[in-house]
Amino acid sequence: MARRGILRGKEDDLVRDLKETTLSFKKLGERYGVSRQAAHDFSKRQGIKRPVKPRGHQTEGCRLCQKLIQISKKPHSEFICIHTIVKETGGSRVKCLSHLRTLRDNGLVNPKFGRLHSKRAEKAYAIYFTKWLPINTIGRKVGIKNFHSIIRKHRELGYNVPPSLYVYNGWEKSRILSQSQRRKHR
Ligand SMILES: [Zn+2]
Repeated sequence: MARRGILRGKEDDLVRDLKETTLSFKKLGERYGVSRQAAHDFSKRQGIKRPVKPRGHQTEGCRLCQKLIQISKKPHSEFICIHTIVKETGGSRVKCLSHLRTLRDNGLVNPKFGRLHSKRAEKAYAIYFTKWLPINTIGRKVGIKNFHSIIRKHRELGYNVPPSLYVYNGWEKSRILSQSQRRKHR
């Protein structure tokens, strides 16, 4: 990406972030790989009116925000479903969601944090991250028909889904191979 002229093809994304979030120019610069000044100048050239940060709320002093940030720091926190997050904060759902939105807008939590709505998917991922099991088996355990396609969809949406612990190679692969070879020889 060139130093000037903000990341070709990403201008629309940046315009959207400038219009819809209260992220600082510094944070936006980091997100788009340009300097704070370049992000600022771009915004000015585009004539964008940036939204004003809501007053009267300090993230540092807000217990709910601090709790949300704490949860978001857990490994694979984007796969904790929103119901669990609300429950863990012990607050009301509406309040929780609005503080969560502010945190996301300010880049203080992962943009995917709190977006998962399916309790089943949360369960499935919890197994996926810790157990050596085929994806279909995990799906069956939690009552999801096609966990494979859910994983694919999440990857497309930008969720960070690491490869399955269950590796389809080694003895597993050779077993499948030898089975097919045996079949051929018959
Ligand atoms: Zn808050």
